[in-house]
This record gives sequence, C-alpha cells and structure tokens, in this order.
Amino acid sequence: MGRRPDICDVLIAGSGAGGFAAALTARLHGLDVIMVEKELLFGGTTAYSAGVIWIPCNSHQQPNGITDSREDALTYLTHHVGNRLDRARAEAFLENAPAMLDRFEREGIVSYTLAPTWADYHPDEPGASQGGRSLVPDDFDGRALGQWFDKLRTPIKTMTVFGGMMVGRNDLPHVFAMTRSVRSALYVGRMLARHGRDRLRYDRGTRLVNGNALIARLAANAFRRGIPLWLGSPVVELVREDDRVVGAFVEREGERVEIRTRHGVVLACGGFPANPDLTRRVYGHIAAGKGHATLPPPGNTGDGLRLAQSVGGTFAGDVDQPAAWTPVSLVPQPDGSIVPFPHFFERSKPGYISVDRRGRRFVNEAKSYHVFVPAMLEACRGEQHAQAWIVGDHQAVRRFGLGALGPAPMRVQPFLRLNYIKRSGTLRGLAEACGIDAAGLERTIGGFNGPARRGEDPEFQRGSDAYQRFNGASGHKPNPCVAPLDRPPFYAVRVIPSELGTFAGIRTNEKAQVIDGEGRAIPGLYAVGNDAASVMGGTYPGAGITIGPAMTFGFIAGRHLASASPYRLFRT
Ligand SMILES: Cc1cc2nc3c(=O)[nH]c(=O)nc-3n(C[C@H](O)[C@H](O)[C@H](O)COP(=O)(O)OP(=O)(O)OC[C@H]3O[C@@H](n4cnc5c(N)ncnc54)[C@H](O)[C@@H]3O)c2cc1C
Repeated sequence: MGRRPDICDVLIAGSGAGGFAAALTARLHGLDVIMVEKELLFGGTTAYSAGVIWIPCNSHQQPNGITDSREDALTYLTHHVGNRLDRARAEAFLENAPAMLDRFEREGIVSYTLAPTWADYHPDEPGASQGGRSLVPDDFDGRALGQWFDKLRTPIKTMTVFGGMMVGRNDLPHVFAMTRSVRSALYVGRMLARHGRDRLRYDRGTRLVNGNALIARLAANAFRRGIPLWLGSPVVELVREDDRVVGAFVEREGERVEIRTRHGVVLACGGFPANPDLTRRVYGHIAAGKGHATLPPPGNTGDGLRLAQSVGGTFAGDVDQPAAWTPVSLVPQPDGSIVPFPHFFERSKPGYISVDRRGRRFVNEAKSYHVFVPAMLEACRGEQHAQAWIVGDHQAVRRFGLGALGPAPMRVQPFLRLNYIKRSGTLRGLAEACGIDAAGLERTIGGFNGPARRGEDPEFQRGSDAYQRFNGASGHKPNPCVAPLDRPPFYAVRVIPSELGTFAGIRTNEKAQVIDGEGRAIPGLYAVGNDAASVMGGTYPGAGITIGPAMTFGFIAGRHLASASPYRLFRT
C-alpha cells in the first residue's frame, strides 16, 4: 500500500511574497496551511527585490500629509494601462491593497515606511501621484529566523558589498554622501561595524533590508504561526475530483507525496522568467536572437502556468510587455561566472548619459527601467545585439558609482581589471575601448554639454517630472538629473536587457481564482504573484507594482479560501 496523502486546508506552491501573503491570510482565518517550495532556499525573486509595494490610499499617507483617492488611482490605471486594464481585477486590487497592508501591519506580518516623495513613474498622467503610493520595507534582524536564516535566499551577489552586507534604499543617500558629511560617515561606519561583528559568526550580514527583510519577516511570522514550509519540494501535478482541484502531488526527498486540500491550492511559483523555451516564445528580442540576462532565480520556470493549464487554466499573453524590464550589466566574478547587476539608480543622476553603438542617445535616462529597455531595443532594431552603454564623467562616477562599482572610496581598479568598466582620458579613447562610434559619441556629448550647463536637456527633457527628479541628486541645481560630462577621465559600462519578473501569466479573476477559457473559475485553484497575469496589463505605473499586487491577491485568495465551505475529502 502507498503512503497515505497528507491533508490540509490549503496548499501553497512557492515561497515568495504572493505565497506567504496567501498562506498567512488563510492562517489568520484559522485554516491549516502547508507551504512547499521547489528550491532548497525560500524567498524567490522577492528575496532579490527591493521589496517595495505600491499601495494607493494607504494609511501611511494621511500622517504624511498626502491625499489620495481610489478614484484617482483608478483614473491613473485606466489612463496608463488603457484597454488592457481588467477593471474588475484593478478595482479588487485598489479596494483590498490598503486593507491588506493595515491587517498585515497590525499583525506584525510586515513593516513598511512610506516614501513620500517617490512619485508614480508617469506622474504627469491623470490620477498619478507625486509621491506616497510606494512604501519601503523596514529592516529586519535575520537572527530572528534562527536556523532558517541559512535557508533564506541571499540577495543578488552584485548588490551586496564586503561579503554579504546589504545596502537598502534608505542607506543610499548616506553612502553617496559619506565622504562629504560627518553624519553620513558615522551612519556608514555603524553599518560596517555591525557587519564586521556579524561576519565573525555568520556567512553574511544579518541586518536585512529590501526584499530580504520583507521575506524574512513574512517567514518568521509563518513559522511562529505554525505554517510548515517544505524546501526542495516542487508541486508536480494537481489532483482533480468533480472538476475541482483537491490537492497536488509534490516531490519530496525523492518521493512523490500526495497532499489533499479541503479548501484549495494556491499557485505562487513566480512566473516563467527562468524558462528559456517560454521566454524565447514571448520575448521579442530573444526570438530575434539577441542577448538577455535573467535576474530572477532558476526555479521560476513557469511550473504554475503548466499546472494551471493542465486543469483548463489559460495563458494571458495579451499584455503590453511580457515582462517587467530592466537594463543590467554583466559583472565577471572571481570564479569565472557572470552575475547581472540591475541599473536602477545612476542613470538619472547628473553627469551620465546612455548611448547606443553609434554613440547616440535613445531615451530620457531618468525614466523608469521599464521604459529604458524598450527604447534600447528600438535603438538596436536591425542590429545583431541589444545593448547600450551608460557613460559618466569622473565626478559623477566617483560620487554615484557605475553599476557594481560603488561610489568613492570603492576602488575602480578591480573593476577595470575585470574588464567590467572601461575608462579613458578622452571620449574618443572611451568610445574605441567600448566599440562605440567615436565621432558619434563626441558629437552627442558635445551637443549635450552646452544646454546641460544650464540644467537643460532639449533632446529628452531629463528631469522634467517628479519621478525623474526623485531619482536625481537632491540639491543639485538647477536640474537634479542633468550635468555636463566634462571632467575626465570618462567611464562606461555595457548594459543589455533583463527582467524583474514576467507580466504575462495565468488568467485569473478578481478573487484570484484561475479561470478557464470561458471565464469560469476552476474551483479550488488560485494563482497569485507573477503566476497570475499582471493586473497592470504589462505596464509599470509605479514602484512596487508587482509585489503590492502579489501580496494583495495573496490576501484576497486567503480570504476567499476561508470563506468557502470545506470540501469533504475521500467520500467514497
Ligand atoms: C533586483 C530586483 C528588484 C525588484 N524590486 C522590486 C520591488 O521593489 N517591488 C516590486 O514590486 N517588484 C520588484 N521586483 C520584482 C519582484 O521581485 C517580483 O515580481 C516578485 O517578487 C514575484 O513574487 P512571487 O511571489 O510571484 O514569486 P517569487 O518571489 O519569485 O517566488 C516564487 C517561488 O516559487 C517557487 N516555485 C517555482 N515552481 C514551484 C513549484 N512547482 N512548486 C513549489 N514552488 C515553486 C520558486 O522557486 C520561488 O521561490 C524586483 C525584482 C528584482 C530581480
């Protein structure tokens, strides 16, 4: 006789933000939950992320003097997403997102601080916010995870320093100012001292920030509330009875284990960015034979999509963009491997521009990463490679860094030796080192510098809205995003396309249920996070628009699961 099935109310596949939010909500409603994770580490892409969430009308706004309304947020989404907006899902998101945050904060499941000046990414569109919809996770002490600390997915290697020290969004102003401000130098000194102490006992720093802090706090809560998490245990097949999903088979320690569920199964497997066959089908540039580097972890291979399709779920590929894009540079590691570095920050600071192979600018560099990549792809149309170079002068690069090369006093030499960045005393020399057209680069920077001295960018109007200025250098006048590139030597780093996660995904309804080709909910089956098609229709309205919805639809799924009467297993 085979092993008897394990029984629970809810089975969650995947341990990212979507999975934990669904698991914890179901638990708060008294359900008995099992979480399973395919990889030996938990946290998924969420553990790599900045952990920022986009929550219009959140309760942190009022104490910060910010007004917002659900109508404004819906106007913004309607305008920005256009006819791809699924109004019912968008309304469900806007209604439930603030409730999710309030409930989770009250329970100590998350802890967030508002970024009051972090504007929406298209702040001049109707209904957009000039700041106050994006929240940054608070630090978390990894030691509180006890033996689970070692099982938490570590951040992307290129985004930590000194052997695993994390630097959060709130730390950055101090890092940029540490050579010019005593307060900032002391702040960074304290970070270093804590890290030094940690390294005596741990393989990396225990002061967690960003997505690592978010996941660690979620996990600590899940463990405290008695939710088991099985690592190295992928869901491989769903179990159906009477057209209802009533469980799944999981591979665990070489065995195929059946788990039966009274309420349902939640797919939270993080989409398909690490599935080369699928990305070749839906990413145009890969289909055209151009290069791409994948940022999310290797386990995100579209298992959720395959599982949903096996019981009648459908793939929603009709999104504006199939993935959330970001440019990355490729950082050679001492062991010969290459690790991508996502370029979120320096592009919008004064003293940088980006150019294509002909030395021409192709985008307003201070716009979001999701705008940057399509513009780069367009600039490289008809070329063999999709690539661009971020170019900065000495003053800019020593103040703000260039990709994985941090600001001074971090040493430039090791990055030059690795051939990661190029440096030259002249623009011509830099262009030749990069393989960029030298006359084109000289012409572009010559043309840029004149107006840039007055803080102007007539070609792309860099610094022209609140989002761009938020990412500029505060206090840099007259335009926080613009300065001439006139202090040699000059530096450049090559970037190529990458993604933060996929936007195309399983079609779901406003209750996070997987729906079939006729729009009917498949009883007992839910999809959240990047397994579900983007509620933003494949657009990127603001910081946190994937994790905010991942947690909100996890919350919605958890409540819906709890409201359904339990299925009577093994009736025959
Ligand atoms: C550098 C970086 C920064 C980012 N910053 C932000 C940000 O600040 N805000 C934001 O909104 N978004 C951000 N993103 C995007 C964001 O991280 C993802 O969109 C989000 O974390 C996806 O969450 P998820 O729960 O859907 O999946 P994940 O967090 O990827 O978790 C999915 C998990 O499911 C597991 N899994 C896969 N298959 C199975 C299976 N068969 N059975 C069991 N488990 C399985 C995977 O191994 C994985 O651990 C960022 C991304 C990156 C790379």
